[in-house]
Amino acid sequence: MNTELITAIQDTFKEKFGDNYLMVSSPGRINLIGEHTDYNEGFVFPAAIDKGIITAIGKSDSETCSAVAYDLKEQFEFTLDEVEAIPKGNWRNYILGVVGELQKKGIEVPPFNVVFGGDVPNGAGLSSSAALENSIAFGLNELFGLGLTKHEMILVSQKAEHNYVGVRCGIMDQFASMFGEENQALLLDCRTQTATFYPIDFKDYELMLINSNVSHNLVENEYNDRRQVCEHVAQLLDVPFLRDATEEDLLKVKSQLSEADYQKALYVVQENDRVMKFAKAIEDNDVEQLGTFLLEAHQGMQHQFKISCDELDFLVEQAKAHPSVAGARMMGGGFGGCTINIVKKDALEDYAKTVTENYKNTFGIDCSVHFVKLSQGTHLIN
Ligand code: ADP
Ligand code: MG
Repeated sequence: MNTELITAIQDTFKEKFGDNYLMVSSPGRINLIGEHTDYNEGFVFPAAIDKGIITAIGKSDSETCSAVAYDLKEQFEFTLDEVEAIPKGNWRNYILGVVGELQKKGIEVPPFNVVFGGDVPNGAGLSSSAALENSIAFGLNELFGLGLTKHEMILVSQKAEHNYVGVRCGIMDQFASMFGEENQALLLDCRTQTATFYPIDFKDYELMLINSNVSHNLVENEYNDRRQVCEHVAQLLDVPFLRDATEEDLLKVKSQLSEADYQKALYVVQENDRVMKFAKAIEDNDVEQLGTFLLEAHQGMQHQFKISCDELDFLVEQAKAHPSVAGARMMGGGFGGCTINIVKKDALEDYAKTVTENYKNTFGIDCSVHFVKLSQGTHLIN
């Protein structure tokens, strides 16, 4: 727990709004495996992490709400009669979005003040946005006794992101951030929106994220293309989503597809299977096998689904070449962001140093290394 950040948020709230407030911790998330399976109604394997958003929230004495982004040193005021997204409103729209979506459910939100700040590395794809939305939904629910379930809250968070930020995200980020548990990951069925919790013992290994610090501007077009391919193949197979297809099914329509599209659909079907095999390896306590699945997943994203890039491939090659790394893969939508690595504890420093130097020598830019632990989801702190 980042006590320094908690103190700073607390002090800022007290100074501006007084002594009556609640403190909420809401984490970011990683995804261990299961990439681009969510919109195919398949399986993903996220976990909440020990980095997130810390929020102080309290009732307002006036009709006006105030929100303070501590890290940005920005503040804005709004009233609750006309809650609308602000063009280029950035962080403001996550807060307005949660309030607006609560109001749409017929819930009356009284005036409040909020101060928030975070320690999620920027641009690493660790879902600071879901952490922020959940912290507001959870904070308001606690503060005003709204009586919402966690599931209702994450749907509010997701809709806030859809309707006020304009990102058509699935449910994984909000789900993992809200429901996470210490030392556990969540096998999430994106069809039923239910999760099975898996305690994970990484034994002599630890999770290391390496941010490539690149984001190639392909993401949106390529994302839409992959979704279309998946929908098209599901249609050909006469199933609702690729989640319902097997490799044998795909062979039946192979002649009607380009090789490229066939490989993309095959990746999704295989990745979905891989998530289940990953779950089995956790039950077997086989950390090396978890690493092997990460490498296989990366192969699939690099060669079949084609959403990787030179920088990410390089980082995964580095992992493969190092004897103390069980495995690695790119994480997230693709074309940049982080790799997730399973690295022996006694080699963390050594590997971080090696990979950082080699990356710099090859691409002329720095990568950044972060260590993460599987942690508790959105909760009150005191
Ligand atoms: P991700 O969710 O993967 O971290 P997004 O682009 O979805 O990336 O969300 C990042 C946005 O969330 C930021 O641009 C900002 O508007 C908001 N945000 C996240 N953390 C903070 C923070 N600590 N202070 C202010 N805004 C934040
Ligand atoms: Mg986000």
